[in-house]
Amino acid sequence: MTALRLPGLVDVHVHTRDPGQTHKEDWSSATAAALAGGFTTVLAMPNTDPAVTDRGTLETALAAARTGARCDWGQFVGAGATNATTVAALAPRSAGLKMYLDQTFGDLRLSDLSAWWDHLEAWPHDRPLAVHAEQRTLGTLLFMAGVVGRSVHVCHVSRADEIEMIHRARDAGQAVTCEVAPHHLVLDGQTAVRLGSAAAVRPPLASEPDRTALWEHLEVIDCFATDHAPHTAAEKGGRTPPPGFPGLETALPLLVEAVHDGRLTPEQLVARLADNPRRIFGLPDQPDTGVEVEIDTPWEIRGPEMHSRAGWTPFEGLKVRGRVTRVVLRGEDAFRDGEVLAPPGSGRDVRESRELRERRGVRERRGVRERRGVRERRGVRERRGVREREDA
Ligand SMILES: [Zn+2]
Repeated sequence: MTALRLPGLVDVHVHTRDPGQTHKEDWSSATAAALAGGFTTVLAMPNTDPAVTDRGTLETALAAARTGARCDWGQFVGAGATNATTVAALAPRSAGLKMYLDQTFGDLRLSDLSAWWDHLEAWPHDRPLAVHAEQRTLGTLLFMAGVVGRSVHVCHVSRADEIEMIHRARDAGQAVTCEVAPHHLVLDGQTAVRLGSAAAVRPPLASEPDRTALWEHLEVIDCFATDHAPHTAAEKGGRTPPPGFPGLETALPLLVEAVHDGRLTPEQLVARLADNPRRIFGLPDQPDTGVEVEIDTPWEIRGPEMHSRAGWTPFEGLKVRGRVTRVVLRGEDAFRDGEVLAPPGSGRDVRESRELRERRGVRERRGVRERRGVRERRGVRERRGVREREDA
């Protein structure tokens, strides 16, 4: 049995479905899946219900994360048609800004180019700005970001012409980084036929030449990100299946397979699942944190055995090597031998400073005391009331 020791992994692209669609997933189940997959930090996308586009919705999402998350997290805010200035004020509290420029799940798509300019200019230039932009949309976006003179991070690159465009832009000196999802590296059009309606995903599964081009441009790929997008098996089997796959628990095994195949070195894997995501998104270190992976014994991927509430996987029945046996987060066992040990609420917000965390801790303790105080005073009053009535 050979064990591989990795740092705590980072997934910069996760859909928690919380708040709003917790029958698909919530913070607790999403981060259980993350730990089972070797991830100790996840960055959550803003297309929840309601979408995270202003202070109120951000507070709601952060509150859900704070009580539910079992690993560390950051929350993206979403670019809307008219919120460029107000959302920019939320930059310090968020993982980054997400701009949806192509067809996706939810209603955050920005069709008006003037809104693109507004966001590219208003969002702080030293904070991460992530885009869903495919093909010619990506070309337009890169042109605009170049004119504005700011960096952008391109989500889930899936086609040859896109990775080539990013390669050329970067060679020309543009500040552009990108991520690729394991399903785009592993699944192709033939799998799409086998999966039938469940193959729906944005961007769609591409052709074999696209997949080959992604592997050939490995040096251009900064991050592997799962785009974990859970829907239930019933929803995926319905007449209009929503797009998306769960991915947190299958990413590492699929990439360990690529290491076995000689397509990837362990160092390249760690760069794309830990070092580069931390650098690009400015994430804090996690001391005394690491992941142990058993990389030789084959096992079979089964949806119902996953921690995600989705209960299915596009990789059903696939034999892989690479199984997470232990995750330690800040010195504590968070996952061991198939069991998630970190309780909901034990994760930390990557954007919360120690000072802020400590101040909130004090406030929460005081809140509990004050509520208890009210209860106790009320209890006294009620008991007294009872006594007084008895007297009368
Ligand atoms: Zn996504």
